[in-house]
Amino acid sequence: MKKYLSALCLSLLCLSLSAAPKTVTSPDGKLTVTISDDARYSVSLDGKDIVLPSALGFRSNRGDFMNAKVTEAESSAIHDSYTLDRIKKGRITYDANVLICTLENEAGDAVKVEFCVSDNDVAFRYVVDNPRWASIRIFEEATSFVFPESTTTFLTPQSDAMIGWQRTKPSYEEFYAIDKPMSEKSQYGHGYTFPCLFKVGSDGWALVSETGVDSRYCGGRLSDWDPEGGYRLEFPMPEENDGNGTVEPAFAVPGATPWRTITVGSTLKPIAESTVTWDVVEPRYVSKHNYKFGKGTWSWILWQDGSINYDDQVKFIDLAAAMDFQYVLVDNFWDRNIGYDRMEELVRYAHSKGVDVFLWYSSSGYWNDISQSPLSKMDSPVERKKEMKWLQSIGVKGIKVDFFGGDKQETMRIYEGVLSDADDYGLMVIFHGCTLPRGWERMYPNYVGSEAVRASENLVFGQHECDIEAQNATLHPFIRNAVGCMEFGGCFLNKFLNKANARRPIRRTTDEFELATAVLFQNPIQNFALAPNNLEDAPAYCLDFLRDVPTTWDDIRYIDGYPGKYAVIARRKGGRWYVSAINADEAPYKLDLKAVAAEFGSPASMTVLHGGSQQQKAVDYKARPGSKAAKANTVEIAQNDGAVIIIG
Ligand code: CA
Repeated sequence: MKKYLSALCLSLLCLSLSAAPKTVTSPDGKLTVTISDDARYSVSLDGKDIVLPSALGFRSNRGDFMNAKVTEAESSAIHDSYTLDRIKKGRITYDANVLICTLENEAGDAVKVEFCVSDNDVAFRYVVDNPRWASIRIFEEATSFVFPESTTTFLTPQSDAMIGWQRTKPSYEEFYAIDKPMSEKSQYGHGYTFPCLFKVGSDGWALVSETGVDSRYCGGRLSDWDPEGGYRLEFPMPEENDGNGTVEPAFAVPGATPWRTITVGSTLKPIAESTVTWDVVEPRYVSKHNYKFGKGTWSWILWQDGSINYDDQVKFIDLAAAMDFQYVLVDNFWDRNIGYDRMEELVRYAHSKGVDVFLWYSSSGYWNDISQSPLSKMDSPVERKKEMKWLQSIGVKGIKVDFFGGDKQETMRIYEGVLSDADDYGLMVIFHGCTLPRGWERMYPNYVGSEAVRASENLVFGQHECDIEAQNATLHPFIRNAVGCMEFGGCFLNKFLNKANARRPIRRTTDEFELATAVLFQNPIQNFALAPNNLEDAPAYCLDFLRDVPTTWDDIRYIDGYPGKYAVIARRKGGRWYVSAINADEAPYKLDLKAVAAEFGSPASMTVLHGGSQQQKAVDYKARPGSKAAKANTVEIAQNDGAVIIIG
């Protein structure tokens, strides 16, 4: 036996000594991942270094794989296609080259790392399939992301745990630090939440995130930059979820960690258009229900807690009906201020107007000090199934569950439990005060969208947020909304963000800016921040646009953008493209209609919403540069302004 082992070790040693670095290249040959014998990976695009040699591996109860060696590698390819009705694209094809490397530690035990490399995306995960193990507990990961010195960052920090409103943080609602050097420290000293955007000098962009996180792992984040080790993947903080639950994820073997993704481009186009978040995950269950997406009203955003009463909800149901919206969202305290019996009556009233109902719930429980009710209906399967049975019986179509407790595996189990049980009762689910969705649009058939962003409520809470509304909005197509549906709850047409529509906070943006965000921000159900007074005081063409604008899309096209300055994104529904442009920069953004038209089949004219009107504009293809006609081909978008161009 001893002889056999030493012979085996020798042969493995020979293999590892003789092995050249392993590489896997995208189908178009431009994106290359190289894995060295000492289990470091690097990423290059067109020969330019994007990710420098970075660590792989983990430490676990089954052994330490932090300094493992690559002993074997196996190549294959994936050709997949699927449809999905709630993300950037409707029909997706996924072609990737795959490399699975065996990582062996000093004890002779092995785990694997699997890389999938498509044209602009790298996805990798650890796979554990040792037949001698039935489970594994991961203590820490070595996984890191090292970028070249010249890289600047577009990051949002992880907050301290158990701070903020009723000790509800972290909840992915921090400010972004825009275009900062890697050496700048994060606000709270706990690194950054996903997704994380990097501008790699003049060589390109990289968006780092993760996907496929469910009840079988925790959510990760990136550490602060360390000049030696780069950004490390970190597990949740022990204090999250009010200290409940471990920070060391565990799963059954055979099994795998979530995927970590790096989307790479010489411009932001591949990042805005990427579907890697969904390409590498699979549905967790099949639904027997047919979920219908659309638009909704919600009184809470402008009229706040005082509006959660029967009569005000009737007004917002009537508003939804007047706007041809499908939904009304009734926010917190409905159980106290309307009650279960009258809710049945309210739902009947909504149905009589052709409007369906979403109801709000707190996720807790016991992991924060939230007093907004209903409380303690969603954390226990026993309670939530009773509640969901009642919701289904009165014809409610969905729930909005708020105020979750961080990223521990314990919390991921609650998200999955809520989704899975809700599907049994035909209920769609929106999450607020929550983590980033990680592939959930494809994994859970009744999942709609998550907040996980400084959303519209902050505009209502303070003038400063209104002052930087445009700047924040230009970030999302390239960061937060690039990897998941985003429940922003915006599109204000009030000039002042309160019920009286007077004094403060003052909206700094134009109406067309707000309309443009209906296209720029993607979520399959859009709960718009309209109020009944908008039927009288908002321009008719704005209301008509919101009646018509789709909330689900067939395709996306990046036109232009710089996070923090401006964003121009087009989305297609059927034969019609909607081009959305917003500007946050002091310099006006000049949108060249001729160039836009050339992108979309050179139509003779386009519908332009800008400057307080909706116009059918002819495109003068013969206009000479500098001429008056050429000027008419340009839409000049000032700071805090926006435009929508409809083609087809
Ligand atoms: Ca929130």
